Amino acid sequence: MMVHRRLLALAGDLRGPLAAGVAIGWLVMAARVAQAALVGVVLGRIFTGAELRDVRATLIAIAVIVVLRALLVWAREVVAQLAAAQIKERVRDRLYGQLTALGPGYLARVRTGAAQSTVVDGVEALEAYFSRYLPQLAVCLTGPLAIVAWIFTRDPWVGATILLGVLAVPTVPRIWDRLLAERGRTHWNAYSALGAEYLDTMQGMATLKSLNAVASRRRLLADRSDHLFRSTMRQMAVSLIDTGLSTLGAGLGVALAVGVGAVRVAQGELDVATLMVLLVLAGECFRPFGELTGFWHAGFLGVSASDGIAALLDERPAAPDRRGAPALPPGAPASISFEDVTFTYPGRGEPAVAGLSLALRPGETVALVGRSGAGKSTVVNLLLRFVAPDSGTIAVGGHDVAAVRAASLRERIAVVSQDAYLFRGTIAENLRLARPDASDAELVAAARDASVHAFVASLPDGYDTLVGERGLTLSGGQRQRLAIARALLRDAPILVLDEATSSVDAENEAAIGAALRRLTAGRTTLVIAHRLNTVRTADRILVIADGRLVEHGTHDELAARAGHYADLVAAQAVLAA
Ligand code: ADP
Repeated sequence: MMVHRRLLALAGDLRGPLAAGVAIGWLVMAARVAQAALVGVVLGRIFTGAELRDVRATLIAIAVIVVLRALLVWAREVVAQLAAAQIKERVRDRLYGQLTALGPGYLARVRTGAAQSTVVDGVEALEAYFSRYLPQLAVCLTGPLAIVAWIFTRDPWVGATILLGVLAVPTVPRIWDRLLAERGRTHWNAYSALGAEYLDTMQGMATLKSLNAVASRRRLLADRSDHLFRSTMRQMAVSLIDTGLSTLGAGLGVALAVGVGAVRVAQGELDVATLMVLLVLAGECFRPFGELTGFWHAGFLGVSASDGIAALLDERPAAPDRRGAPALPPGAPASISFEDVTFTYPGRGEPAVAGLSLALRPGETVALVGRSGAGKSTVVNLLLRFVAPDSGTIAVGGHDVAAVRAASLRERIAVVSQDAYLFRGTIAENLRLARPDASDAELVAAARDASVHAFVASLPDGYDTLVGERGLTLSGGQRQRLAIARALLRDAPILVLDEATSSVDAENEAAIGAALRRLTAGRTTLVIAHRLNTVRTADRILVIADGRLVEHGTHDELAARAGHYADLVAAQAVLAA
């Protein structure tokens, strides 16, 4: 590994922090060289019969340099940390932007834990690469050559010997760079797979325990852990050759220089005092490479992670904004239309939605029903532009959704979904996600309309009560009513209710029903429901099967016909019985 182009591109403009790191690196090296040269001078003079008082001034100079160097090393550390913090923040921000651009479709395809490892651990691991390895590399590529150039002026033979070593130490290990990169990738994959497995395990803990599957899961985790251990060792086996060779190269280089220097002294071409200085300096030529391999080991996880980071950045969003796309005009009517829309998920043979046409007038409530897998959620994904249709047009307020900015489209649509997500934080914070500037009075008004105010008010901390991740400390019905309150705060003209009353007890259902009536009043509403009793009141019902529209009409019309809807009603009656 020398310079990883992708990593450089990732960090953006690095000139400032890198230049500071290199400058201090140079000063550290200069201090070492000065110290070494002075030690050489002292040794040379002692060898040639000088007294201690003759070298006292030089010894004091050495002591000053030692202190100075310690200060420089400290400064290098501070600059490295500052640079690393800046770079990590920048990279994480880009990755977050990319993850949100890719949207939920991407996270449905990849493992959440692996994506998390990339964004958290992967970026963390970049630190050593940027803050230590790169500046040191710049020092290595320049410093030793400058010393060698000076040695050349004293004695070309000793200079040439050291030059050979200085060139060989960093270039020879490049032979197995490819192997190293491959093992690095395997290692990172094992690392992120282990993270993904643990996350999955923790999220599914209740299921694991209830299925009594804890032991088999433990074996799986032990297996993944073992895989990580083995891939770490396999990578170390290669990367440690680098360290070994640098040490060997440095040793050999200095030894050869001693040999050549001794011959030159014997020939009378070089005096002993100069030879001492040259030999001490020869050691300094190789020292930066030794440090570089040390830094490499600190940064290698980041380099392996960079493939994952690059892969994440290379992903193309399913439905990106077109260049210069305008916003959906705020005054556009709250109508929705699908015209002959067909969409197939990547890697699937059958389309999830096929030749679907439908239209919702402003203010209308339309229910979409159909068996599980019929394509209802896909209709919502298409409407929100999480995915783009393969053919056909989707319009909101008469504007093709593909031609406007996705953010402006989503601003017009509030979604109350079956699995409304609540983040760890207070209830007020969760509600304000919908409208950050909402006043306390507005929060309470929305919660009242969502039939959840009484519940929140009964909690010891009221709106400041902490809810756990995914709202796990609340019941399904409470979560749903909070989601409705959130949608009320959003006050978007179009509403999507995804299975809004599934898995809720009768009392909750009545409260939710009342909340929903207040929410849907005056809004264009698309209801997606399996529970057919919640769709009776819809203005129209659209029945889809295999992604196609197969029936439409009011509940009474459809129930009277012996068609798909009647079948669904009958099937549900059997289930309910
Ligand atoms: P419904 O909401 O009516 O239950 P969906 O719209 O979720 O149905 O699914 C329609 C079809 O698309 C199903 O065959 C389902 O397996 C498939 N599908 C849904 N989501 C994805 C996805 N992210 N990737 C691939 N196929 C999917």
